[in-house]
Amino acid sequence: MPIAGAVDPVPVPRILHPRPDGLRDLVGLSRTAIANLLVEAGLADARQAKMRSRQIWSWIYNRGVTDFTGMSDLSKPLREALAGHFVVGRPEVVEAHVSTDGTRKWLLRSGGEEYEMVFIPDADRGTLCVSSQVGCTLNCRFCFTGTMKLVRNLTPSEIVGQVMLARDSLGEWPSQPEGRLLTNIVMMGMGEPLYNFENVRDALKIVMDGEGLALSKRRITLSTSGVVPMMERAGAEIGVNLAVSLHAVTKEIRDEIVPLNKKYGIEALLKACADYPGANNARRITFEYVMLKDKNDSDEEAHELVRLLKRYDLPAKVNLIPFNPWPGAAYETSTPERVQRFSDIVFRGGISAPIRRPRGRDIMAACGQLKSSSEKLSRAELDRRAAEKEAAW
Ligand code: SAH
Ligand code: SF4
Repeated sequence: MPIAGAVDPVPVPRILHPRPDGLRDLVGLSRTAIANLLVEAGLADARQAKMRSRQIWSWIYNRGVTDFTGMSDLSKPLREALAGHFVVGRPEVVEAHVSTDGTRKWLLRSGGEEYEMVFIPDADRGTLCVSSQVGCTLNCRFCFTGTMKLVRNLTPSEIVGQVMLARDSLGEWPSQPEGRLLTNIVMMGMGEPLYNFENVRDALKIVMDGEGLALSKRRITLSTSGVVPMMERAGAEIGVNLAVSLHAVTKEIRDEIVPLNKKYGIEALLKACADYPGANNARRITFEYVMLKDKNDSDEEAHELVRLLKRYDLPAKVNLIPFNPWPGAAYETSTPERVQRFSDIVFRGGISAPIRRPRGRDIMAACGQLKSSSEKLSRAELDRRAAEKEAAW
């Protein structure tokens, strides 16, 4: 049984990817780190560096400036010297799509690898679905990302870079306190954010910084498949809303569809949720439940879901996600009637259980089912990859 609070080994090393041009990207670095780099590069002494780093920070995060020549309150020689050492980078856009319902999807590239990001506009909010890794070391059986072979952690620069790029393309510079299109962030793109804890934490700290992008922690949600030993730290050191990919109420089914369950079972997971700092009735934990036909969608399972969440006295809401099929997937989507009935039972049990409306279907933009491709892997190959990944953790 894992000990709550113990640090789980992070399976992918934390590396910063040097740019081929040798320049250092300032996006994703704290003000202190920027100040230190200025001193290291001989561009300022310690006292000046602090002030310069604040000016540069403000150009980057309040004005969206990517070119040092535009930083007009810095001297011309300093601007030129900065350009010799640093960049204010963005991930490269490989493809950009806009759905008929306004959902946007980008295929991005940096350090040679590709990852995706989605923006979902609603009447009262605009949510950016951000990736934390290229691929995922876990292999939930209904998730396309889990079948990807290659996995690496995204750096803070690449995570913050997604938000910056979305703001660029929404035309949201300079920052306005009111009327923004991008109002919410969900860490529900590719990857398991709690297996890239430090980079996700450092990135979200920058996104939440009151002197920059200034997104409130109440408008950011981190979704985990249940990396129990990291949940307490996530609450203490990041403090954003928590979403947990539960997807099943019995050991048998959850072991099959979320194999991490063999390491951290449902009981340990719900206990960690009950202990999650900051969870209360005003800030409930979201339990994600992907609806898979004849697998996890019965009346009995809906009743059991209510019992489980009540047993742990959790401030909970449930998000029912109709399964988004992909070529080669072993599951089918539950019928709309089944999903509705499941939702009704959970609602009657006193827990809110809205059905998530599929968005951006025409551009394959489902959050959590990113990096969709026409690649159709054989069942044998999918099983082989799953076994290989499981053996690794
Ligand atoms: N790794 C994290 C966050 C990324 S996945 C996690 O698992 O929570 C974000 C959400 O999308 C998860 O709830 C995931 O289970 C769900 N998801 C993945 N593939 C899906 C699919 N094909 N259809 C519907 N939901 C899916
Ligand atoms: Fe990884 Fe989340 Fe997909 Fe599971 S659902 S394979 S944890 S991205």
